[in-house]
Amino acid sequence: MTKSIKLLLVVAVALIDADNRVLIAQRPKHKQLGGLWEFPGGKVDPGERPEAALIRELDEELGITVKEACLAPLTFASHAYEDFHLLMPLYVCRRWDGQVMPREGQELAWVRANKLRDYPMPPADIPLIPPLIELLM
Ligand code: C5P
Repeated sequence: MTKSIKLLLVVAVALIDADNRVLIAQRPKHKQLGGLWEFPGGKVDPGERPEAALIRELDEELGITVKEACLAPLTFASHAYEDFHLLMPLYVCRRWDGQVMPREGQELAWVRANKLRDYPMPPADIPLIPPLIELLM
């Protein structure tokens, strides 16, 4: 018998500041994997393009405006959680308009790529760290 697998598409971004630090955000305590740190982003709505979803999420969560041309795909996470399979492209972005603000009350941290492992992350996000170190260190 074939088992059906639920696929979840989430987009994430490494926002990189002028000092080559990467922004991470802490997941709210009440959510699944609460308290862990992640790259900003979120779920892609049905029919939505991943880049459009990321631009929407960055406005909602951080109050910044990103142009699609400033989003460059870097790598892709694929992780089997217990009840769904997560697919998560990671983009990098160095240019945006506006000031990063925690619009949902989330903790934010600007972190050097080689220090990202000091922040506990969801298992899907951890394989995204080495490509970022490769890019930035
Ligand atoms: O952020 P949200 O809760 O909508 O994401 C849905 C699920 O995707 C989370 O419960 C988590 O299991 C997974 N996720 C992840 N890493 C992220 C974002 C989401 O593993 N950066």
